[in-house]
Amino acid sequence: MPLHEIRKVRHEIVMRALQVRAVHDVTPRMRRITLTGADLEGFHSPAADDHVKLFFPAPGTAGTRPVLAQSGEKAPKHLEGMSKGRDYTPRRHDAQAHELDIDFVLHGDGPASTWAAHAALGHWLVAGGPKGSRIVPDDFDNYIFIGDETALPSIGRRLGELPPQARALTLVQVADAGEHQPLPSRASVERLWVHRGNAPASDGSGLLQALRRLCLPDGDTFIWGAGESRVMRAVRKYLEEAGHNEDWIKTSGYWKLHEEDED
Ligand SMILES: Cc1cc2nc3c(=O)[nH]c(=O)nc-3n(C[C@H](O)[C@H](O)[C@H](O)COP(=O)(O)OP(=O)(O)OC[C@H]3O[C@@H](n4cnc5c(N)ncnc54)[C@H](O)[C@@H]3O)c2cc1C
Repeated sequence: MPLHEIRKVRHEIVMRALQVRAVHDVTPRMRRITLTGADLEGFHSPAADDHVKLFFPAPGTAGTRPVLAQSGEKAPKHLEGMSKGRDYTPRRHDAQAHELDIDFVLHGDGPASTWAAHAALGHWLVAGGPKGSRIVPDDFDNYIFIGDETALPSIGRRLGELPPQARALTLVQVADAGEHQPLPSRASVERLWVHRGNAPASDGSGLLQALRRLCLPDGDTFIWGAGESRVMRAVRKYLEEAGHNEDWIKTSGYWKLHEEDED
């Protein structure tokens, strides 16, 4: 395989009705929900930044098994009686135990965050996908992972998968020290946390300042970032202006500050 080849793989989209098996607060703002169900048979998520589209039952119906749409090429945007879909990272999948962990940032209002805040054993949701994977090889000299709390499930998964000879740096903005996660890895990892304190989650100024202070390491470096859309655009712009190889940068807007939130 050529050096640093990033492969894209498509998957058939499968819709699954899943039930809450366990609820665990990783930190005050990050809730890990273990989902289970026979529908998890055949679930496959080969890349750390894969996502599933989650649909949540209307309030008051969380205990009722949802009716599934057909699987097929195109992921449905709407399901009868359910919220609009929201994207989430498969944090851990155990095929034998039929378990899928999703880490939810409890950010406040929103169908996903609200569902997670009230999730109890036996509650249902529908998960579609992943519809595709972008598989980044582990042959880079260095990895840099940048983001806010929504990036942590993917970063945590990626660090857990890196081989011992890999070197990585994480730069993550969270509310405060109570939001730090252990993020275990066999690789050699430098973990940098930026605290935004009482500033809104969309305020990426601390993250950008910390990024500008970083010395990008020598050698071939893959840089991945995810968080609020505008913050991620600024991260990408900075990295491109700094002359980093554009093929080795992947930034994603994981959520968007709605205009009315800016008042
Ligand atoms: C590929 C991908 C993977 C993702 N993986 C994860 C994951 O594993 N865990 C995770 O928690 N999120 C993840 N996200 C982000 C998540 O999809 C969004 O945060 C989503 O908007 C949450 O939906 P909601 O229904 O709670 O809020 P929405 O109804 O979408 O939004 C309601 C309000 O909340 C604001 N808002 C949304 N998200 C946040 C936030 N994180 N912080 C502060 N304000 C917010 C919006 O601006 C809006 O005003 C991922 C996104 C993508 C694209």
